[in-house]
Amino acid sequence: MSLTLSPPLEARWEALLAGLARIADMHPDALLASSMGVEDTLLIHAVAQLPRPLGVFMLDTGRLHAETLAMVDVVRERYGIETRVMRPDAGAVRAHVAEHGEFAFYESVALRKACCGIRKVEPLRRVLAGRSAWLTGQRREQSLTRVELPETEWDETFGLQKFNPLAFWTADEVWAVVRALSVPYNPLHDRGYPSIGCEPCTRAVRPGEDPRAGRWWWEQRDSRECGLHAGNLRARAHPGVRPRGPLPTDTTETTTS
Ligand code: SF4
Repeated sequence: MSLTLSPPLEARWEALLAGLARIADMHPDALLASSMGVEDTLLIHAVAQLPRPLGVFMLDTGRLHAETLAMVDVVRERYGIETRVMRPDAGAVRAHVAEHGEFAFYESVALRKACCGIRKVEPLRRVLAGRSAWLTGQRREQSLTRVELPETEWDETFGLQKFNPLAFWTADEVWAVVRALSVPYNPLHDRGYPSIGCEPCTRAVRPGEDPRAGRWWWEQRDSRECGLHAGNLRARAHPGVRPRGPLPTDTTETTTS
């Protein structure tokens, strides 16, 4: 492979590809969740090279930045991957907005979680229904709620296996690979957004701030998950009890590595 990566990082990249290939072998119905942040486009770049590609989806909450939505076209043009775009139930959105207003998420954690429930969690439950596994671009380094993030875990909320292949990657490693391989990334990252979510609930961060400080910045730091990764909050409340594991190891002679 013609990488301009250091040997340790090239080894890490190759291990990621091998791990993803094994996930695809074990769970051909698995889907990669993409919020079109840099971790997600890195994983899309990786899965595009697999002998058995994995499907990709995103949750279009109706409140995303235009730059994030535009990444669907970027991914299609670069990789030929059609991102499955999941949208919330229009009636539920209308009813919530009619009762609480367009910006109720600023009023309380409960109303914010209600909005995330309608715009994110319900569409996620729909797209994952009947599947055996999903993958995310979460990393331990990203926030207090992710410091115990395992590479794989049973997702009690949605009832399937969940893989976090970048759990132990640092931001520097992600960006080194992205730049070396010319992986496309969301232009919001160059405008101070290390973590990208819905437009009204995400702000740019200052140098040295927690990478997720811009997400729901008006809330306490330990409540800032949207329901997609509820296990992170459970683990935060009960440290040390989270079922965890590494990525699947190569236990057959036929898996790709
Ligand atoms: S991040 Fe904000 S706008 Fe997006 S679903 Fe959650 S509360 Fe609603």
